Amino acid sequence: MEKKDLERVKSVVRNIPNFPKEGIQFKDLTTAFKDPKALRIMADALAELYRDKGVTKVVGIEARGFICGSILAAELGAGFVPLRKPGKLPAVTLKKSYAKEYGTDTIEIHQDAITPDDVVVIHDDLLATGGTMLAAYELVKTMNPKKIYVNFICELSELNGRADFPDDVEITTLFNF
Ligand code: AMP
Repeated sequence: MEKKDLERVKSVVRNIPNFPKEGIQFKDLTTAFKDPKALRIMADALAELYRDKGVTKVVGIEARGFICGSILAAELGAGFVPLRKPGKLPAVTLKKSYAKEYGTDTIEIHQDAITPDDVVVIHDDLLATGGTMLAAYELVKTMNPKKIYVNFICELSELNGRADFPDDVEITTLFNF
């Protein structure tokens, strides 16, 4: 994958100032998802990162992690597992609550979605503080897969969201803001 290809994707991400609240620079990836060439580049670049790693499941975080998460799973010949907000998954779930800037949030996964034979990539669109992904990582870890990789399309470097993860967790992103 050439750097200029990822620069193209980055250039079509739309910045929305003060959304959803004052002071946030929201990186709107829908403008990259709707661009056929950018979507192809993201699919190829994500698959390239994990092609030889024996990945069996990609876990996507609701909702923007479902988009490239399922594309990545199909590219790798792996399965896709949704990690969802409370009350959405119909079968028996495992849950994890975590602190947000205001209050707490909960994420859920089907308890039979991951087994100890799995090699997992957890995917989301953007690494900000990392709070959501860290909770996802800890939840998936309780299911004892062989290995867990963490992936995002992009990261906000200033927030240093990587810092809270254990040192041995491999975190990849395609580009930075
Ligand atoms: P965090 O837990 O802080 O890493 O972020 C939680 C979720 O909110 C991530 O999955 C992102 O999809 C989204 N998010 C947070 N900050 C931004 C931002 N500035 N632009 C776009 N999405 C964001």
